Amino acid sequence: MDCCGHEGPGGGDAKFEIHKVADGVWAAVAAPAYKVNCNTAIIENDDGLMVVDTHSKPSAAKVIVERLRQMSSKPVRYVVNTHFHWDHWHGNEVYPQAYPNAEIVTNDITREAMVKKGLKRIQDHVRQMPAEITKLEADVAAARGEARTKLENDLRLARAYLAEVKALKPALPTIQFERTMKLYRRDREIHLLHLGRAHTEGDVFVYLPKEKVVITGDAMIGWTPYMGDGYPEDWAGTLDRLAALDFTHLIMGHGEPAGRDWLKVFRGYVGDMVEGVRREVAAGATLDEVKQRVPAALAGTYEKPFSKYGDYRPWRTGILANIERTYAMVS
Ligand SMILES: [Zn+2]
Repeated sequence: MDCCGHEGPGGGDAKFEIHKVADGVWAAVAAPAYKVNCNTAIIENDDGLMVVDTHSKPSAAKVIVERLRQMSSKPVRYVVNTHFHWDHWHGNEVYPQAYPNAEIVTNDITREAMVKKGLKRIQDHVRQMPAEITKLEADVAAARGEARTKLENDLRLARAYLAEVKALKPALPTIQFERTMKLYRRDREIHLLHLGRAHTEGDVFVYLPKEKVVITGDAMIGWTPYMGDGYPEDWAGTLDRLAALDFTHLIMGHGEPAGRDWLKVFRGYVGDMVEGVRREVAAGATLDEVKQRVPAALAGTYEKPFSKYGDYRPWRTGILANIERTYAMVS
């Protein structure tokens, strides 16, 4: 199987294209969605499957399980969570339901973040969604034509998401490791690594040395990174440790699979943005001035490569948020 789309049950917003990345290794790349879904990496071993990350809701993970059953008669043995963000683990519960022996694996830092921050954020979603729905209802009433049809669809998805998040049975990892965990299967090695802080304090990378593939979670994505829980000053150093691994293919948390050329651009952006903010802060610039000057200085190099997904995740909005986070941390 090389590539095919698949819509979620009941016309949900979980749609994936499956790309073969190496023998027995696939990326299920999530299409843009009202409630963003992460990608899933699928690794077929002699004794079962490993999947990496489980999306923003159980209905999305169920779409993947349906696909897995078509791809292989083997059970899922391991589910890896790369970090504690909702769009990477809220579908966890689906796997032990579908495959009773499945273990959910992450590192100690990420499991602790799920317990201390992730669980609370589920309740935040439950509390915040009604206001989001009320606003969409008002927007639908005021809109006409195509815009109205789109908003009506968003409203349907928002209501469905509220129902799902209310019913969520958060499935925390059943195995945690410190720093590194290595699985030696008959046909491949799988290394779970912590390379330092980046998108979160505990980012897990999944490295297949023989196939030269790395699964990065959101430490690398196809659009401008989200840094709200991130460590902008550590990020480039973590990516330098990633660059030291011998690999050719990246399966990222969001966006199409990429190669080393994208690592170069992405690392360049993070490093240049942080340096730009630091320089401006050292010269006494206010946050507003930094938000004017740094995007102006970086647009020529980075706006185009980071605009591949257009209005879904625009570069300008992303860099302004990145600057605010970095400014708060360096000043
Ligand atoms: Zn994500």
